[in-house]
Amino acid sequence: MSGDGRRGAGESRLCHNWMMTVVCHECGAELPAGLSCETYFHRALAWDFEDPAGAGAVHHLTVLCYFLQHPSRYSPEG
Ligand SMILES: [Zn+2]
Repeated sequence: MSGDGRRGAGESRLCHNWMMTVVCHECGAELPAGLSCETYFHRALAWDFEDPAGAGAVHHLTVLCYFLQHPSRYSPEG
């Protein structure tokens, strides 16, 4: 049913155009409302552990980049 597929794609585009967004106060990224950079960071960490030879091979860079862009998350121990 290709007609249904086209209608579905249009609805997705319309949703994207009208999507509410928020801006991260630390890095300035524009994000869908209800999500945060921390949400995406945790998703990236999950990919690291799901694929140790792929995403996991650059785990240290993932963590470093996130904390450089979000310095309020530093701790004295870190
Ligand atoms: Zn951010």
